Amino acid sequence: MMRCPNCNSKDIGKIGSHQFYCWGCFIELTVNGEKMSVFQVEEDGTLSSLDDLFFGEEVPQDFPSVQVSP
Ligand SMILES: [Zn+2]
Repeated sequence: MMRCPNCNSKDIGKIGSHQFYCWGCFIELTVNGEKMSVFQVEEDGTLSSLDDLFFGEEVPQDFPSVQVSP
């Protein structure tokens, strides 16, 4: 079950093949493979990314510089 990364609600509606809408906090979620993006729908209908709030900080501290060779 998918949960909203913002409000943790399970009240997620599907609005597209990879797009979902949270009825809890009224944000749009876009799933692209394993990457999830979050957008806030502005009053004029435009989308503003909230990724910085949730996924922007990719601090590699848990991943020391290990190169994985195929
Ligand atoms: Zn939500």
